[in-house]
Amino acid sequence: MFVPNIKLNRVTDINIELLKKYGIEALILDVDNTLSTHHGQILTDGLEEWLLYMKENGIKLTVLSNSKRRRVEPFANKINLPFISLGLKPLPFGYIRAVKSLGTKRKNTAIVGDQIFTDIIGGKAVGVKTVLLTPIKPEDGWSFKLRRKLEKIIIKHFKIENTEV
Ligand SMILES: [Mg+2]
Repeated sequence: MFVPNIKLNRVTDINIELLKKYGIEALILDVDNTLSTHHGQILTDGLEEWLLYMKENGIKLTVLSNSKRRRVEPFANKINLPFISLGLKPLPFGYIRAVKSLGTKRKNTAIVGDQIFTDIIGGKAVGVKTVLLTPIKPEDGWSFKLRRKLEKIIIKHFKIENTEV
């Protein structure tokens, strides 16, 4: 339930060989702490080149974020990708819409995100593959700190280790 198919540090660590190995043809991308810092509009290092590399290799891409439209839309426009905002992860609706828009099968699609309790649990529930990343920068606020603590306990308990790339 908590254990991702793949664990990496940065989105740019994802490469084509790894996706092929898991039969992944499309990626649903989280935004906050996956493609940028929490509520930041700056692209994480190497993101543009990585997006191009994915597209050139025929990997379909879309954005699914729990944040509001006014946060997600300008960022998605910057990287020229379709998006779903207020995605309500880990509930299934956003994932199902995203997979439909990609036109792939669930088992050939992966969610890429930094949070076990939203991105990964939701992805497992709908049967897409799951890629867990290290958050780019820790968030402020007690609820996030608590969530991150619980994530650390899960990562330790299930011995979730980085996938070699
Ligand atoms: Mg996130």
